[in-house]
Amino acid sequence: MPTVDHQPRTDRRNGWLEILGPLPEPDVFRGEETVDHVVVGASWTGLAAARRLAELDPAATIVVLDADLVGNSAGGRSSGFAIDMTHDIRAGSFAPEDVERELRQMAMNTHGQRALQRLVEEHDLGDFWDDVGKVHGAATPRGEHHLDEFASMLDTMGQPHTSWDRSATVEHLGTDFWTRALHTPGTVLVQPAGLLRGIAAALPGNVAVHERSAVMDVDYGPPHTVRTTQGTVRTPSLVLATNGYGPGFGFYRKHTIPLMTWGSMTRQLDDDEWATIGGDDTWGLIAAEGAGTTVRKLGRERRIVVRNIFSFSRRSRHDGRWLATAERTHRRSFDRRFPSVAGTPFEFTWGGPVSLSRNGQPAFGELRPGVQGSIVHNGVGIVRGTVCGMLLADSMHGAPSEHLDLMLAKGRPSRNFPEPFNSLGVRANLRWRRYRAGIEE
Ligand SMILES: Cc1cc2nc3c(=O)[nH]c(=O)nc-3n(C[C@H](O)[C@H](O)[C@H](O)COP(=O)(O)OP(=O)(O)OC[C@H]3O[C@@H](n4cnc5c(N)ncnc54)[C@H](O)[C@@H]3O)c2cc1C
Repeated sequence: MPTVDHQPRTDRRNGWLEILGPLPEPDVFRGEETVDHVVVGASWTGLAAARRLAELDPAATIVVLDADLVGNSAGGRSSGFAIDMTHDIRAGSFAPEDVERELRQMAMNTHGQRALQRLVEEHDLGDFWDDVGKVHGAATPRGEHHLDEFASMLDTMGQPHTSWDRSATVEHLGTDFWTRALHTPGTVLVQPAGLLRGIAAALPGNVAVHERSAVMDVDYGPPHTVRTTQGTVRTPSLVLATNGYGPGFGFYRKHTIPLMTWGSMTRQLDDDEWATIGGDDTWGLIAAEGAGTTVRKLGRERRIVVRNIFSFSRRSRHDGRWLATAERTHRRSFDRRFPSVAGTPFEFTWGGPVSLSRNGQPAFGELRPGVQGSIVHNGVGIVRGTVCGMLLADSMHGAPSEHLDLMLAKGRPSRNFPEPFNSLGVRANLRWRRYRAGIEE
């Protein structure tokens, strides 16, 4: 009997979830049931798949199982950039076929964004949705060079953007840490845990979401027997929406690079403190340097969130040495950027898993008979997971689309180098990227 040997580690450090206030008691899966579909993972991918399956067949019975609380996944711990286009601005120059590929990718991302926006509008979730675009900020000459390259790439793609010189940057962001910035309008900033919980609560009646219901083992069929901590469910159709935990179910074990990345959220700032920062009330910034610090200024909540550091962790550990390192690094990053409120305590610091592949390709589609999966979202899973969840359901119902063809035509994650070369190489690469980030960390 196969055993799921890589389980999520749950903790209650995630600020996005904790600021929502008291949560209802989780509905734990108990007993025995047979249903049409079991979806494992109640985050962006799993909730989108469950909703679409329910829409395509309103008579189907669908059970969603999650080891944790909805909103406490990587998705709910994320920085909340629901991106329209790549945020890897260091891609360099673009060949014509790259432009076409990126535009197709953008169309797919926008499809996911629109699906989220419809839910926000239909279910009154506007408090978790800020349609303000994203900012790319540079604090070094090399960072500025990246911005120039990015601007020319956006010109080639015909995509709108605005470059901010130093004074415009200060005017918008309220701090003179960044020397220049570039704004693109298409990204939406979300409160990830709040939005996920809202989406879960708004699922159609034929979907049951069970939190704190970890899948411990699976007898693959079909029909499959899925055992959770307190129950058993049988189904002809299993959907794995477990991203970084996919290898625990026996898939792509040697193809994924398990990283953790870390966030901190300040306590609420008072009116005077908030006023000393100045600038726009709500923004989200991605550093021009790859390993730089992502910052969210949350006007509604009057808090600031910083994210940086990637650590290599085969078991997705979000405690111990790296937690302390993250806290220390976040303190320095925050104080540099917001000197007028330097030292404002962080109320929450947390880690979350990110699943990458060496060649940047996802694992999407049928993993074995009766098992579909969409895992390895390479760090942009809010919209990508949403789209892929919907497309998995479409493909299970034989509903063709251009986006589905695009996903099915993608490559698959390439195999990692053998150990210990893989972990040594990844760790060395992370150290090098941190060094290169310099003060942008
Ligand atoms: C700090 C941080 C910042 C990020 N910022 C961004 C960002 O700004 N924008 C963006 O697009 N992406 C961001 N990401 C990446 C993004 O979070 C992921 O790509 C996205 O969450 C993937 O969504 P998913 O639904 O596929 O998987 P996940 O969100 O990882 O959810 C997988 C779910 O599966 C459940 N699960 C796993 N194993 C089991 C089991 N055995 N039994 C039951 N349930 C199980 C987990 O509990 C979890 O809820 C960030 C990630 C982190 C950690």
